[in-house]
Parts: sequence; structure tokens; C-alpha cells
Amino acid sequence: MSALFGNYARRPVQIVKGLGTEVWDENGKTYLDFTSGIAVLSLGHANPILVDTIKKQSELLWHTSNLFESKLQEQLAEKLVKDTHLAHAFFCNSGTEANEAAIKLARKHTGKHKIITCLHSFHGRTFGAMSATGQEKVHSGFGPIVEKFEYIPYNDAESLLSTVDDETAAIMLEVVQGEGGVHVITPEFAEAIQKVCEEKDILCIVDEVQTGIGRSGTAYAYMQTALKPDIVTLAKGLAGGFPIGAMLGTAKLYDSFGPGTHGSTFGGNPLAVSVATTVVNEIFNKEFLQNVKKKSQYLTEKLVKALPSSVEVRGMGLLQGITCENSTKIVDAAEKNGLLLVAAGDKVVRILPPLTVSYEEIDDAVTILQASIPVTSSLK
Ligand code: PLP
Repeated sequence: MSALFGNYARRPVQIVKGLGTEVWDENGKTYLDFTSGIAVLSLGHANPILVDTIKKQSELLWHTSNLFESKLQEQLAEKLVKDTHLAHAFFCNSGTEANEAAIKLARKHTGKHKIITCLHSFHGRTFGAMSATGQEKVHSGFGPIVEKFEYIPYNDAESLLSTVDDETAAIMLEVVQGEGGVHVITPEFAEAIQKVCEEKDILCIVDEVQTGIGRSGTAYAYMQTALKPDIVTLAKGLAGGFPIGAMLGTAKLYDSFGPGTHGSTFGGNPLAVSVATTVVNEIFNKEFLQNVKKKSQYLTEKLVKALPSSVEVRGMGLLQGITCENSTKIVDAAEKNGLLLVAAGDKVVRILPPLTVSYEEIDDAVTILQASIPVTSSLK
């Protein structure tokens, strides 16, 4: 029996090396990694500029704690809020922690407790973020969840309006529900959220843990919608594979997050922050983001051409999903054929290449995917 707990359904592949979009297993077999470690390796595996950054920082300073001032954190915070309406950042170590911070800040700032989230959302595994997650299977077996979360169907403006009341502190949502099956927000839902938040002084929290830092083709995915969030949470791609999380917020929230309200020993660690700064320097420029959009268009057009017409291709940027009868079967077959993919539930396969993926790699991945879909299966 393994010395590890069995909380992950691990695939029987041991990845030992990666470079760019490619990885190698312990037997020397090569795969195209279109999982990016679930939307994490934004600049690919072992990117030389990130290797260089971490080497240099590791020889300088690993850790100081938040007892002391940090120019590195200040600089990263400035870069993350630049060209947005947001003003401040708090650093932590993961997506779930970023969402915990957001939930605490929303309650503290408004003095209210109810937070509306969406069915099929995913916000993390710690108690607050798990409670925010609108999936019964994620709550199951853990006893009472955190009170005052109410779930509405995604993209259902009517349910939103009938659920909002005077007790509502915030609405929290993803612009694309990644884990929940790659569902993209509709313009009408985004407009309704923004309107009700402004009218009723409710905070809007956008969870960009999966969609943020260029994955959508813009710095943040909310920028392609009517949403103007008060709080944005980040993690995954932010440091391209080094653990980090962040919560961004508007200026009006500053006083509600004073000394002693929240914290993290490792949050904003110099290694993580220096790597994240390099990632952000690379991604937050017009040309890079334009290329993500171009590659996204190329990928989706190729997928639509290559796959049966019954398959729906949907998503934003380089977070795409294809619908199918059995996602595990397709992930299994693609893996055998040298392409790593990740399921989003039973009926959707997610396609998440590094943002640095080449057009040739997209061609190869689509060819492998096409060969991995059983011709006879009724896809829809
Ligand atoms: N929020 C979203 C939208 C996510 O996709 C995830 C992870 O998949 C999380 C939060 C949780 O992030 P982490 O696993 O870093 O805690």
C-alpha cells in the first residue's frame, strides 16, 4: 500500500522531466502536455527565464516572513493592478487560500455574511472555499459547511435577482467554470451581476484562479465581460508552476484588511514572488496576449474541423473544453497516443496547453486527439 493518502485518483504515469510543452515519463516516452499542470505552467516546463529567476533569487533570499517590508511584493502588486481599476494585493500560496481571503474580506468590509455563488462552481477545498463551491459532491462527508452561501444556476440572471437581499455581502463567480465543465459566462449574466452589485452595494468577487494571468487572452478574463469586480483571486498560472496565490481588491476595501485581520507565513515568499514577477513581465504585454488569442482561435478552428459535428468546442483563450460521452476514455486514449489532457467532469475534456504552445504543437495535439476519439461513439 502506498505511503500516500489516496485522495487523488492518480494516472499511472510518472512524469520525470519537462521542457516547453513536452514532458517525458520514467520510461522515456514523450507526451505533449495539454494540461499545463491544470492551467499552471503558463510559460511551459523549465522555461529558461524562470529557471534563471529562481536560481538568482535562491542565492539571494528564500524567506523573510511578512514581519518585514517587501519591495518584491510591492512591485508584483503594482504590476498586477496596473491598467485595472484594482488597487491592492494580498499574497498567499494557492487558489483556495486566495478565495478564503476574499470571503473574509467581503464579510468584514460589508458587515454582512451571505455570499451568492453558482452551481457547478469550483473555488477550492478549504472550508470557506469548499462551502462557496456549488457542488454537493465536494461538500459530502465533511459535516456542516460554512453558513450563508447560497447557490444559483450559472448564467441565470433571474435566479440571481430573486436570491439577492439586504443580507447579501457578495456575489462570487468564475468567468469560465473550469472544473465545472468549461462553461463560459453569458454577456447578459455578467451585465446583470454588475448592475445588481452597483445598485445594492454588493461586492463582486471574480475567481480568476484558472482564467487569470493571460489564460483567457486578456490579463484577466473579467476584462472581456461587463464585470468590474471589487475582488479578484489568482493562483495557478501566476508563478508558472511555483506555488503562489493572490487576492486583488479595490481601494475602498483597504481599511477592512488592516493589521491582524489576515495573514500567511509563506504568503508572498521571495522565491514565489520573484518567479511570478518574471511571469507577469512576460505575459502582460499586448503582443503576448494577442498571440494567446490567435492561438486560441487557431486551436478552436482546428478542433471544430477535426472533431465530429456533434462535439461542442467551448471556452475562452487557451482554456477550451470539448463535450463527449465519456471524458475518462478520451483522456486514457490520448495519453496512450502521447497527449496529456484533463477531464472536467464525466462529459467534458479540458484542453489547457501552456500559453507558449507553438502552432505545430497545436496541430500535433489535434491530430492525436482526433485519433483518440472513438469514431463510433456518439459524441454530443
Ligand atoms: N478556484 C478555481 C476556479 C479553481 O479552478 C481552483 C482549482 O482548480 C481553485 C480555486 C483552487 O485552487 P487551489 O487548488 O490552488 O487551491
